[in-house]
Amino acid sequence: MNIDDAPATGFIQPGPTLANTFDDDRALRSHLRRVLPGELLAVAGTDYAALGEHAAKAWESARSRTPEAPRLVQWDAWGTRVDRIETTRAWQHGPVLAARFGLVATGHEAAHGAHARVDQFARVYLHHVASEFFTCPLAMSDGAVAALKASGNAALCARVLPRLLSRDPDRLWISGQWMTETAGGSDVGRTATVARRDAQGRWRLHGRKWFTSAVIGEMALALARREGAGDGADALALFLVETRDAEGCWNGIRVDRLKDKLGTRELPTAEIHLEGSLAEPVGDLAHGVRQVAPMLNVTRTWNAVCALATMRRCLALTLAHARRREAFGHALARLPLHRATLAALQAEFEAAFGLVFFVVELLGRVEHGGGDADQALLRALTPLAKLWTAKLAVRIASETCEAFGGAGYIEDTGIPLLLRDAQVYPIWEGTTNVLALDALRALRGDRIRHVLHAADALLVEAGGDAHGIAAALGAARDQLDSLEHSRDELESVARGIALTLARGFAAALLARHARWTREQQGNAQTGAALSLFAAHGISRLRAPAMDAVAMLVDNGAP
Ligand SMILES: Cc1cc2nc3c(=O)[nH]c(=O)nc-3n(C[C@H](O)[C@H](O)[C@H](O)COP(=O)(O)OP(=O)(O)OC[C@H]3O[C@@H](n4cnc5c(N)ncnc54)[C@H](O)[C@@H]3O)c2cc1C
Repeated sequence: MNIDDAPATGFIQPGPTLANTFDDDRALRSHLRRVLPGELLAVAGTDYAALGEHAAKAWESARSRTPEAPRLVQWDAWGTRVDRIETTRAWQHGPVLAARFGLVATGHEAAHGAHARVDQFARVYLHHVASEFFTCPLAMSDGAVAALKASGNAALCARVLPRLLSRDPDRLWISGQWMTETAGGSDVGRTATVARRDAQGRWRLHGRKWFTSAVIGEMALALARREGAGDGADALALFLVETRDAEGCWNGIRVDRLKDKLGTRELPTAEIHLEGSLAEPVGDLAHGVRQVAPMLNVTRTWNAVCALATMRRCLALTLAHARRREAFGHALARLPLHRATLAALQAEFEAAFGLVFFVVELLGRVEHGGGDADQALLRALTPLAKLWTAKLAVRIASETCEAFGGAGYIEDTGIPLLLRDAQVYPIWEGTTNVLALDALRALRGDRIRHVLHAADALLVEAGGDAHGIAAALGAARDQLDSLEHSRDELESVARGIALTLARGFAAALLARHARWTREQQGNAQTGAALSLFAAHGISRLRAPAMDAVAMLVDNGAP
């Protein structure tokens, strides 16, 4: 049959397309205009536009080909164990784009001082979805830079930092972080990998790492217990492992298999055995968890920025679809309930955007000598931003599937992928509960006052508090104070406290930005986002209900 003779098919809904994702992003553009110096924005703006163009094209091209997945080839044709990981096209191109756009390096650009982090994370945000999660090993590489700088190990820094921060793809190194084992990811104190000296006195690691997302990288930071050291997290040490030796052979690493995952399928997450891998201590041979903490602050920030990027992609596609798809005689975007549903999601996104990019700004300030108040604020807001945005990304991705109707459930529209991928955000780099408890530690004693004090200052800049933001934050502080002596009760409501503080602080930031956009750009949209966000309720506090919880979880037993 000639193709022209094909029967008429009737109505066909065109798929959603993306414009340049930088040109099209009001929240990002107005935020950068407020916080970055004009000269930096003018220069970096060319890169942002190029990344936005690439993102739009990558979306189109991904729709026109079969999805790819990485593959582990364990044996060559002649029976030699090779453990070769074959990556997808986007991943093969990953180092080139990472180096060209300085996705790690720009965050450490001395000439840009505290603004370097804002510049860097604007790039990460624009590139993340198109990168097919190549941002995951980049996050770990950036985290490794932070941990190495904090370690004060001058020899390791001199050898490794120029590689991790290289703008030349042939010199660029990627780092993994090897912490999670079969016994624990949250509870790394149960790490069983052992560090033992060989006959030449060099350290070698023996053990099994259960989730390693960057075994394709040139190095990793790994937690291990020095042989004979005691139990628990404090006895762990942090080691740098180069994955290959001088001949390009694996450094005592056996790749057992790649994980078969719900999402992030382009990312080759491996299970590995360390069989005497040569390793170098980063610092002293204990307190490895403390040494890895600077890395976690950075990777959690990446997680929050990437969650934002997913939300923004979901909203851009949903809105594009709603403007073209008709039901009951109108475009979906004209139907009152659909409009209200989309606007509420956009408002949540804009609030989250403000919080995440404030954390980014704080990170830059702290790395450039920020004072105690900035440090306390960064320590408290990082887990809050990570945990809230992770949950919100899943919610927005789920609403996105629904907003596309049946098409949102069909793989080759590209929409279900957004939901499957989003589910990683609340798991990787600390689950919601683990981060809520971490936030409680960060807010202990007087430290919550830093958060409330900073929010008050934002509300003054905003010209007032018309939405009860200070009251919501104050109620979270009161619950924290009142339960301080009842550890179990306090832990049981930690999520509510964390979410309320995240939402309240985000609302204060949005109020300040609303005033700025109104006065400087004559734009009332941020103010509208604030009204909708607040109308959805800032507080997520819950009263402790220990008896009811026990009845449900312990199967009725007292
Ligand atoms: C795609 C992907 C890639 C990954 N890549 C890496 C990697 O490269 N390197 C690496 O080291 N790890 C990696 N991980 C592992 C990841 O960091 C861990 O899975 C995660 O930290 C959770 O640890 P766990 O699996 O041991 O879960 P568990 O700790 O067993 O958690 C199970 C549940 O218990 C809850 N829970 C745990 N402790 C508490 C508590 N004290 N109070 C209340 N609730 C609690 C958690 O919130 C969760 O709901 C990856 C994971 C995924 C999914």
